[in-house]
Amino acid sequence: MIIQGKPKFFNSKILAIDSRQIQNPADSLFIAIKGINHDGHQYIEELYHKGVREFIVEQEGWTSDLQEKSNNWERISVFVVKNSIQTLQEIAKEHREKFQFPIVAITGSNGKTTIKEWLSQILEDQYSVVKSPKSFNSQVGVPLSVWKINHNHSFGIFEAGISKPNEMNFLERIIQPTGGIFTNLGSSHGANFQNDFEKLKEKLNLFKKAHFLIFHDTNGLKNKITDYLVPINPNIQLIYWSETDINAPIFIYKKHQKGKIHIRFKKSTQSEVFLKLDFPDFDEASIENLINCVLMANHYAITQDVIQRKLIHLRSISMRLEMKDGINGNKIIDDTYNNDIEGLQFALSFMKENHRKNKMIILSEMIETGLLEEELYQKIGQTINQYSIEKMIGIGKTFEKYQTNFKNLEVYKNTEDFLEKGGIKEIRDSLILIKGARKYQFERIVNRLLKKTHQTELIIHLNSLKNNLDYFKEKIGPNTKIMAMVKAFAYGAGSEQLTKTLEKQAIDYFAVAYTDEGIELRENGIYAPIMVLNPQIHEFDKLAEYQLEPEIYSLEILKEIDEYSTQNNKNLKIHLKIDTGMKRLGFESHEIEELIKILNQAPQLWVASIFSHLVASEDINQKSFTEKQIKDFKEISDKISQQIGYKPFLHINNSAGITYYPEANLDMVRLGIGLFGISSNPTIKKNLEEVLELKTYITQIKTVEKEETIGYGRKGKLKEKGKIATLGIGYADGFKRNLGLGKGQFLIKGKICKTVGNICMDMCMVDISHLKDVKVGDQAIAFSKELSIQKIAGLAETIPYEIMTSISPRVKRTYLID
Ligand SMILES: *Cc1c(COP(=O)(O)O)cnc(C)c1O
Repeated sequence: MIIQGKPKFFNSKILAIDSRQIQNPADSLFIAIKGINHDGHQYIEELYHKGVREFIVEQEGWTSDLQEKSNNWERISVFVVKNSIQTLQEIAKEHREKFQFPIVAITGSNGKTTIKEWLSQILEDQYSVVKSPKSFNSQVGVPLSVWKINHNHSFGIFEAGISKPNEMNFLERIIQPTGGIFTNLGSSHGANFQNDFEKLKEKLNLFKKAHFLIFHDTNGLKNKITDYLVPINPNIQLIYWSETDINAPIFIYKKHQKGKIHIRFKKSTQSEVFLKLDFPDFDEASIENLINCVLMANHYAITQDVIQRKLIHLRSISMRLEMKDGINGNKIIDDTYNNDIEGLQFALSFMKENHRKNKMIILSEMIETGLLEEELYQKIGQTINQYSIEKMIGIGKTFEKYQTNFKNLEVYKNTEDFLEKGGIKEIRDSLILIKGARKYQFERIVNRLLKKTHQTELIIHLNSLKNNLDYFKEKIGPNTKIMAMVKAFAYGAGSEQLTKTLEKQAIDYFAVAYTDEGIELRENGIYAPIMVLNPQIHEFDKLAEYQLEPEIYSLEILKEIDEYSTQNNKNLKIHLKIDTGMKRLGFESHEIEELIKILNQAPQLWVASIFSHLVASEDINQKSFTEKQIKDFKEISDKISQQIGYKPFLHINNSAGITYYPEANLDMVRLGIGLFGISSNPTIKKNLEEVLELKTYITQIKTVEKEETIGYGRKGKLKEKGKIATLGIGYADGFKRNLGLGKGQFLIKGKICKTVGNICMDMCMVDISHLKDVKVGDQAIAFSKELSIQKIAGLAETIPYEIMTSISPRVKRTYLID
């Protein structure tokens, strides 16, 4: 049945927008959404064959081809609408209106997800809470989250995030919040807003009908909110707090005590303090988030005792999966924070992408509000059974009761029981998901399984990588393909996980430096085409076997591959490299005639692309040279295309080229360092997020007298008597030796700490005289979003590429996925 317009009724209980995430086709309504690089309509046919029967499609995407095919499909309902996102939003809005209980919304620049999670932990004994999964806060995330509300719930917490003007009005209509929290305004307003105030106003639209709003009055936020919001919503109660203004509705007094922070809350209208609480000793931003949560809980009459009990059990949380190297060749996905079905599904679909055969789950009992226990365990079982999992460990007695819902299940009474009898030492070469509620203390299991060789850690923020890729995709437009450069262990970040992530984001091509790197990608299950920059003559067999496409850069290698492919009767794809000025690899202009002649007699060689490399694309002073390179390249490649009679892809731009010479994006661009959030172009840099974070820990703290020397060669001294910290990172880890003697720096507790003395092989020392409250075990950041690789490279008098690729393999890589 084809129905014009928004559905008035449908059978499915699940709304799905991602064809890959559909677990239960018969019960899913698929909403085809057309994005910049993705079109959901392409999956309709496939989904029909998988069993999906209800679809919302857009007029434009519902092509005559699809319509014709659908004539033979049985029992389907297709709703044809103008705009499927708007329709999804309408459906969610109508759903929301069926519920009367409190629904609060959170917006602001930082901390939304953290606040949502903490608040739900504080409320969970009194209320059955429904909340957005992970950070589902966008134009699609919000309606999908709101759709999850059901009649078993009694409290809703939703986050809302925007990137463009006017988006918040849509989110407001869907969430219709009773009240809310505004976290803070962050420092950058993003490309789509004129200034911070414009962005603030847009965000405040979320509360235009709310009864109350909680926020921290900093940077004049109260005045701005009053000016904008009160005229449109005169009845709103502004519950703001301050540590300096005793006339604020809530005045807050903080006192640091050993290992905790004592906080008193006082209302300006009362003489007595109304809440006295001990907070965990978190960083300042987390405390700010927590105060907002406490005020919200207090607003809904949660008592001081309950809040205090909850505060003790909170942890500085991360809403994300971490993948780490374990003992016995295992890989560990540490998801010990989050323990709901959504999180489980997310982790499972992440596991599915991994090529390892042995997959194992260690799962604790789950408390999912809004579902009966029986339904819950049925659902957990169904969720897991859709994936091939060799072994499942259930921790907690409830699993026994519902054993029949699971395959290959082993049950242990509690964590202790598993640690004793679970045979941890025998687990090998497996991918292990560890997921449990706090009280099960699964970090004990994680610690047992982890390889604990070295404390220094390179964290790869995969979400930032996706952000950067999206940015470049939008910038180059839909007609230019992307080749992701993942040579040199993906610039040090680790090729296996990086290429997996990128392939999922529909990257057209990968490029590696050596054949072995390409083989490794194939063995990790990468199917996308792969170009090899430095193929060797004796490797043609391997290239062919693994479908790797060599860069052909000289007449010699061209003749060799011609001979090899003729003798072995193989058709091969090749890429021609033209040297337009680098003087490294590539055909020079006098060799082009001969090149064409050979190609025309070698029909078994298919030229997939012709390319060249810019020498100084980041240097505006070399503009005329770069433009000459581009011009020469076009002439030479045109000539080749004409004379071989077909048109290979042309590409010349690298990351910097894309930003400075967009007219040379041609058929494809080769994106490398830009993916990691690094750009010498300040306007571009603003839109990118730093992907890599290198951190280590303080191993010892010493007091040093003015006349004493520090480190090898007695090169370090403090100006005054002070304190130094020894850190677990040295030049053998990739922390350059020339960053010693005060040139280099770390961030400790958010403060810059300069190196003192020479950097040692495995350690270095920094001056921490100006820091209070530092202790052994505290983190020291070598680079991160706050301390950029570009800055460090500058200090080390090198380039970001070298800093990144120098990080030693002994530094463990941890991948974060939101
Ligand atoms: C490494 C490399 C790139 C990528 O350069 P970035 O500056 O990292 O974007 C592009 N083309 C070739 C041939 C390369 O070797």
